[in-house]
Amino acid sequence: MSGLALAGLLATAAVTAVPAASATPADRASLTAGDEPDRLKAEYFPEPGGEGRTVQVPADGHGQSGQGARTTAPFSAAEAAVDGTADGLAVTGSTEDRLDIVIVGDGYTAAQQGDFHADAAAKWADITDIEPYKSYQGLFNVWTVDAVSNESGITGDPTADQVKDTALGSYFWCEDIERLICADIDKVASYAAKAPAADLVVVVSNSTKYGGAGYSGLTDEGYPFNGVSTLSSDHASSSLIAAHEIGHSVGLLDDEYTYESYGTWTGREPAGINSTTYTPAQLTAKRAKWYRWLDRPDPTGGTVGTYEGSFYYPYGIFRPTGTSIMRELSSTEFNLPGREAMIAGFYRAGNGLSSTVGTDDTIGSAQPITVDVAPLGALARPELHWYVDGVERAAARGRTTVTVTSLGVRNDGRRHRVTATLTDRTDAVRDPAVRALATDRLSWTVAPGA
Ligand SMILES: [Zn+2]
Repeated sequence: MSGLALAGLLATAAVTAVPAASATPADRASLTAGDEPDRLKAEYFPEPGGEGRTVQVPADGHGQSGQGARTTAPFSAAEAAVDGTADGLAVTGSTEDRLDIVIVGDGYTAAQQGDFHADAAAKWADITDIEPYKSYQGLFNVWTVDAVSNESGITGDPTADQVKDTALGSYFWCEDIERLICADIDKVASYAAKAPAADLVVVVSNSTKYGGAGYSGLTDEGYPFNGVSTLSSDHASSSLIAAHEIGHSVGLLDDEYTYESYGTWTGREPAGINSTTYTPAQLTAKRAKWYRWLDRPDPTGGTVGTYEGSFYYPYGIFRPTGTSIMRELSSTEFNLPGREAMIAGFYRAGNGLSSTVGTDDTIGSAQPITVDVAPLGALARPELHWYVDGVERAAARGRTTVTVTSLGVRNDGRRHRVTATLTDRTDAVRDPAVRALATDRLSWTVAPGA
C-alpha cells in the first residue's frame, strides 16, 4: 500500500519539532486544583473475545491503587538521551490534514526501545487489518514516543503482587480487575506532547498478558486529546481493544453490549448513532439512524436490522446487528452503520485533499496547481474533479496537476475561481451528510490578466 511505503520513507527521520502542548499536565492540575482526586471513565474487556465493562478509575493511576508507592530512580544519561524521542511510524501527510495517533510504550527499558518500536508497528498493523481502518489508514499519521522505564514489564504481571518502576505507571489489576490496565494519564499526556500532534493516544505495555482499557471523555477533563487506549504488547487480542476504543472516540459509536442488571430502557430515543428505540418500520418512516442500511448483508454476518439490547440495556433498545466489534471482541468487524460512522469520523479529522499551493494565493494562468490525494484503499472511491467558476472541466478529472490555461480559462480580464474537489464515492457511505464530510474542496483565485 502506497501509504505504508511513504510511511517507511518518512519513518527514518526522528521528529525534532516539539510544539507546546495545548494543555500541559501542569495547566490541567491548576484547572482541577482543590478537587477530589480525578476519576476517569475507562472500559475494559475481562476476557479475550468477550464483552466490555465500564468503570471509574483514578487519573493518576498507580498512586491511587493502594498497591504500594512507586519509587522513581533518576534516569541515567544514556536513558535521558532517548527518553521522549518522537518518531514517525506511519506518516502520510501534514498534521492538519490527518488524524494523529501517538503510541507510547511502558515497561520498556532503554535497551528495549527497539522492541517497543516493533511492538508499536505490530499493533498498528493489527488495527489496520480491520476495515475501515484498512482502507483509510492514509488519513492517519502514527507517531511513536519513547518512554524509558527503569524496569522491564509492568506492575501486576504476572501476579498482582509484582510491582515495576515504569515511565507511565501502568498496571494490571486496576480497581482489583485483573485485565484492566490503568496508567498515570498525566504522564501519558506529557509523553504524548512530544509528538507533533495527538488526537488519540495508545499506550502499549510490555507484557504477554491479555489486558487493556479505553479512557474516554478526556477533553472534558482538560486533556488535549479525547481518548487513550492501553493494551498489552504481546497478546494478539489486545489490539482489538484499541480498534474498539477508536470506535468511540472517532466514530462516536455507543457500546452495543449490555448489563443484565440494567433491565429495560425507558428513556427517549438515545443520541447514539448505533442505538435506537425504533422498529425497522419506524426507522424507515422517520428516516432515522441506520434506516438506509436495513436488510443489507453485513460484514459481521447476518443482515442489518434491529436487535434487542444496546448501550448497556438488554431490553427496550436495539442495535444494528447481532454482533459487531462494538459489542464483543469475538467480532473483528464494524457493522455497516458503524463503518459509515467511522468514515465520517475519519473525514471530520482528516482531509483527503491537500495542496502546497496556498488557497490565499492569487494564481497566474501558467502557474501549476498541484494537489495531493491521500492514499486510500479498496473500500474508498475517491474522485477528483476540477471546476472553473463552478462549472466542471471534465477533461481534467483525476489530474493532480493543472494550470489555469489547461483548464481552458480565457484571459478575458476577469477574476476567476478554480476549485478542486475530492469526493469519496465509497459504497460504505449512504448518508448524504456523511458524503458531504467525505468531500474535500480547495479553491484558488485567478487574477485578471495574471
Ligand atoms: Zn466500548
